[in-house]
Amino acid sequence: MTNTWEQVRNYVAGKWQDSLAVDRVLVWDPATGERLGNVPMSSSSDVGTAVQAAAKAAPMWRRVPVGERTNFLFKLRELLKQNFEDLSRTITIECGKTLAESQGEVQRAIENVEVACGTPALIQGYNSEDIAVGIDEIMIRQPVGVCAVIAPFNFPAMIPFWFLPYALACGNTVVLKPSERVPFTMQKVFGLIDTIGLPIGVVNLVNGGREAVDALLDHPHVRAVSFVGSSAVARYVYSRAAAAGKRVQCQGGAKNPVVILPDADLTMAGEIVADSAFGCAGQRCLAASFAIAVGEAAEPFTEVIQHRAESRITGYGLEQGVQMGPVITPESKARIETLVDRAVSDGAKLVVDGRNAAIPDYPKGTFVRPTVLANLPIPSDVARTEIFGPVLSINHVDTIDEAIEFVNSGEYGNMACLFTSDGSNARKFRYQVEVGNVGINVGVAAPMAYFPFSGARGSFFGDLHGQGRDAIEFFTQQKVAVERWPKTWSRKF
Ligand code: NAD
Repeated sequence: MTNTWEQVRNYVAGKWQDSLAVDRVLVWDPATGERLGNVPMSSSSDVGTAVQAAAKAAPMWRRVPVGERTNFLFKLRELLKQNFEDLSRTITIECGKTLAESQGEVQRAIENVEVACGTPALIQGYNSEDIAVGIDEIMIRQPVGVCAVIAPFNFPAMIPFWFLPYALACGNTVVLKPSERVPFTMQKVFGLIDTIGLPIGVVNLVNGGREAVDALLDHPHVRAVSFVGSSAVARYVYSRAAAAGKRVQCQGGAKNPVVILPDADLTMAGEIVADSAFGCAGQRCLAASFAIAVGEAAEPFTEVIQHRAESRITGYGLEQGVQMGPVITPESKARIETLVDRAVSDGAKLVVDGRNAAIPDYPKGTFVRPTVLANLPIPSDVARTEIFGPVLSINHVDTIDEAIEFVNSGEYGNMACLFTSDGSNARKFRYQVEVGNVGINVGVAAPMAYFPFSGARGSFFGDLHGQGRDAIEFFTQQKVAVERWPKTWSRKF
């Protein structure tokens, strides 16, 4: 059993184990700069041991009736609820977001367990009697085998749960690799999993980075790969795993536009867009990144955003009243500030400058305050780059058609939102934008656990998404049987 801060361990074949890796990476609290511990960069041999354990458990686990499999999830749900505060605090400490944001994240993780508890109904197949005289045809869903889950840093609890509970409920065994930048949340979650009595090897945890990922992608026993992270890595994971004959779903990065029409409630729109852009310090794949103000919406909308950006309280996420935490690492802060420098030298106007933030009591924190740019030249490098920090660019167009063209011209397709009071414009927008998640008067169009967490174009590689029915489809292999039983095949029996 382990879940101390200092020592990150793997969980393999029902036991906590030390990785064979010599290489370890330090993990810091991004707000205080305090050292939290170090994480092993597990080797391909560590991954091999975990995959072997999962492969060994797979034939037995698929035979456990689905209702018994989901009983383990009911237990896990109770434990997640009992440990809600501890998990939320852990996320804030290692990831930096505010406690309220962390609580929202843990809640989303729990909701995915709840939906996966409905797998006995969701996993059912279908059939047709007498497709020819005396012949029946049935479709059944069977588990795929060993599934690998590879997660990013920005939602250490929620994102693994887009996949893990569904994979298990569908009768698969799992090897999970969290982000090496936030390993402690899964240490705690696996501390809970360790107590629910799952058979040995059904679920395994391996910490590490690229070497561990490559080992999962190449291992012949891994049959399916679920990945969430930046688009460059998503593309790489997708092609390498697909080339090895695995089924793959890869959710990638984003650069999300929100469009504001002049008939919208502009105060409400400004407040919602500011929360979208600056919530979680902009480190959300559904963060608003570009606001496209149409016609005379530009001036009043910019005023509201400016006020919300300047007044947002930035600080340590465990302190009451703080509305925005730090970004994840010093490298991330430097990268964000360099992109803002570049936008300004490309000709953007700096409406609110969040660079060089100094937060009293937290001199070592990697803080960037909310930043607002206007008239960022399109195209420019920065206009195409995912900043992944609290930076919003406001641009201006004359018509909704130009705004939709702007949305569809970007490389990414994760989310687009429209603010309006006009239903026909809302429908036109929903109909025409080429993105996976659409918000109408909503700034973070995050699908509930019983809907797919969608994504399109450069933001998604694959066909089936995480969560809900898509997850059931992804984690099962369809088998069709055509059956004739001789005594009943004649028309006369
Ligand atoms: P990342 O791509 O750096 O890392 C994601 C995972 O891939 C980690 O587990 C990491 O260890 C591994 N990895 C990193 N580089 C690798 C490489 N070269 N080869 C193999 N594996 C590698 O992403 P991140 O910085 O942790 O997360 C932020 C990114 O994730 C952003 O781009 C964000 O938009 C995206 N994201 C997307 C969604 C979505 O649903 N589309 C959700 C959350 C985050």
